[in-house]
Amino acid sequence: MVKAEGVHKSFGRTEVLKGIDLEVRPGEVMCVIGPSGSGKSTLLRCMNHLEKINAGRLWVDGELVGYRQKGDKLYELHDKEVARKRREIGMVFQRFNLFPHMTAVENVMEAPVQVKGEPRAQARENAVRLLTEVGLADKTASYPGQLSGGQQQRVAIARALAMRPKLMLFDEPTSALDPELVGDVLAVMRQLAADGMTMVVVTHEMGFAREVGDSLVFMDGGVVVEQGSPREVIANPQHERTRSFLAKVL
Ligand code: ADP
Ligand code: MG
Repeated sequence: MVKAEGVHKSFGRTEVLKGIDLEVRPGEVMCVIGPSGSGKSTLLRCMNHLEKINAGRLWVDGELVGYRQKGDKLYELHDKEVARKRREIGMVFQRFNLFPHMTAVENVMEAPVQVKGEPRAQARENAVRLLTEVGLADKTASYPGQLSGGQQQRVAIARALAMRPKLMLFDEPTSALDPELVGDVLAVMRQLAADGMTMVVVTHEMGFAREVGDSLVFMDGGVVVEQGSPREVIANPQHERTRSFLAKVL
């Protein structure tokens, strides 16, 4: 579902990703950890067409990100084609960015109606079903300002799922939440993983990484320092940088 080979990304003279190699199979959950500034968000943004890579190759769902192949030639995707590709990927950020003037159900049905042209009744029915799945059946008519951070983040997850993505990217989805609200969001993500969704999750929730992750990647300074099964990496880190980072988050 995702494959990176020697992915490089620079902003001006600053090289942020310095040759990333990784692979996520369909149905797998990859957790990504690493210190602030190590390039985790940039990597997710590259997967989601929000940043262009400078070198290497990156595939999502078997296709090179940003390019279309014709014979042995590569053509850069037009903005419209990029927009179409991005619809196949769901992204959940630390900040939920819901539309404040729309109810939960309106937030969830917005993209299917506006972008995909789904009939409103069908989009609404699907949105209510998704909100029920994330435990918010009684909040469909609430505005974001009436919801807790954890509830808002679950609306954001439902909103991403409404586009029926093949891949879900989570960028520190619980980092902005009060501790008592983290569990409900992680429970939704855990269920999503159990349902077979392919997920890349940047998180420092090590319990989640250990129990739900199929693989764990430790990034530092724009490189993958270590990757493997979460239990192995956590119990028996091979690199000093991984050890000292884990000592801080465990
Ligand atoms: P992380 O998510 O691991 O904290 P980021 O991917 O957000 O790391 O950032 C990695 C580095 O790239 C940081 O030094 C950050 O300042 C830099 N960076 C990220 N986005 C940009 C940008 N649009 N322009 C310039 N520098 C950026
Ligand atoms: Mg980040």
